Amino acid sequence: MILIAGGGIAGLVMGLTLHQLGLPFQVFERVAEPRPLGVGINLQPNSIRELFDLGLEAELEAIGVRTRQYGFYSKSGREIWVEPRGLHAGYHWPQYSIHRGQFQMMLLRVLRERAGDGAVITGAGVAGYETSGTGATLILTDGRRFDGDVILAADGIHSAIRKQMVPGEGDPIWNGAIMWRGTTQARHFLGGNAMFLAGHDSQRFVAYPISAEDPETGLAEINWIAELRVDPSRALSKGDWNRPADKADFSPAFDGWDFGWVDCPAMIRASGVVYEYPMVDREPLPSWTDGCVTLIGDAAHATYPVGSNGASLAIIDARLLGAAFRDHGVNRAALLAYDAAQRPRVERVLRANRGKGPDAVMQMVEDRCGGVFDDIETVIPRAELAAHAEKYKQLSGFSVEVLNAQPPSLG
Ligand SMILES: Cc1cc2nc3c(=O)[nH]c(=O)nc-3n(C[C@H](O)[C@H](O)[C@H](O)COP(=O)(O)OP(=O)(O)OC[C@H]3O[C@@H](n4cnc5c(N)ncnc54)[C@H](O)[C@@H]3O)c2cc1C
Repeated sequence: MILIAGGGIAGLVMGLTLHQLGLPFQVFERVAEPRPLGVGINLQPNSIRELFDLGLEAELEAIGVRTRQYGFYSKSGREIWVEPRGLHAGYHWPQYSIHRGQFQMMLLRVLRERAGDGAVITGAGVAGYETSGTGATLILTDGRRFDGDVILAADGIHSAIRKQMVPGEGDPIWNGAIMWRGTTQARHFLGGNAMFLAGHDSQRFVAYPISAEDPETGLAEINWIAELRVDPSRALSKGDWNRPADKADFSPAFDGWDFGWVDCPAMIRASGVVYEYPMVDREPLPSWTDGCVTLIGDAAHATYPVGSNGASLAIIDARLLGAAFRDHGVNRAALLAYDAAQRPRVERVLRANRGKGPDAVMQMVEDRCGGVFDDIETVIPRAELAAHAEKYKQLSGFSVEVLNAQPPSLG
């Protein structure tokens, strides 16, 4: 029996993968009644390929937006670099921009339809574990104990299992930036299905649609993020995704960010509840595995939300672990094979994200010309911009040629 702590993105994709492989499993989710929490996320073609292999193509199409293009702009709205995405970039699979909560609810519903309601026990908070070389026991906060062959910790950035595995690690590490996140009913911009990032390291605005335009109103749900560096002494609840915030804390800094092709202050004004989230990550670990227990998703590798890659990494973890169970059996050897294959790769992504990953070009433009230019070629040659973008895709495992040529993880 495979015991999974946490029914978020990683835990549910893990459950679907184990069901596909015909392996017995049980998911334990702390929340009693899961609700569609969060705002927008992006799923890259490498993870979409895995979700299609799980038969979720129609489900994704029903709730996601196929991202067509992705671009960086200066703080005055001038175009630095724009590239096609998903099918438009030549991948065999799309990229989707999607509401995190709707995506999680879809995964939960499909898992229950396929594996039965009992596959996910809700209201089951995990407190810790005991392990030997040949099995593990999951301990819930109410004292219940469940014996299994292995435990997979998919319990997110504040993982109780990681806390036990890495005593004294403390809170996630904050880099001094805060992201305010919201959604607004507005029209698509830049020709539709486009994501943009504008500004530089100290101040950024990011937006992308997570629904199609309504045929009657012409409006869509637009996900946006306003990011600022703030006084580091400010008290923050580190890594709470659902902390409502006051728009007055950040909106004045974006006055004047009406670029003509998009009006950022109007988007902030027209939104409903705004959530505040500090830019945090965690130090990479020398191992994710203790006996017959291993970490997946944010429990293993919370990274800055740079490069639109966090949920995709969690999905790939689950699929690689599935392949390891198929190849080695449900045992510690499989956990170690997954750990050895995925941990060094993810550590490179985490470190690249600390250096701002692909977004670093925005600060380069700010440093070189204060964000004002007529021809980007005179600031950074386009060939250099192209090489920078490609480097991150290779590092993260979604370079077009490599991904298209790769055999399926669970073929
Ligand atoms: C409520 C919420 C909102 C989010 N909103 C956004 C967003 O707007 N944008 C974005 O980019 N990312 C968001 N994220 C993070 C994003 O989902 C993850 O970075 C990524 O998808 C990796 O998924 P994960 O499954 O590893 O972690 P998560 O998606 O965080 O899932 C972890 C799961 O484990 C459960 N859990 C936690 N502790 C325990 C425990 N002790 N016992 C049992 N279960 C436990 C949680 O309730 C959750 O369901 C959000 C996460 C959460 C939980």
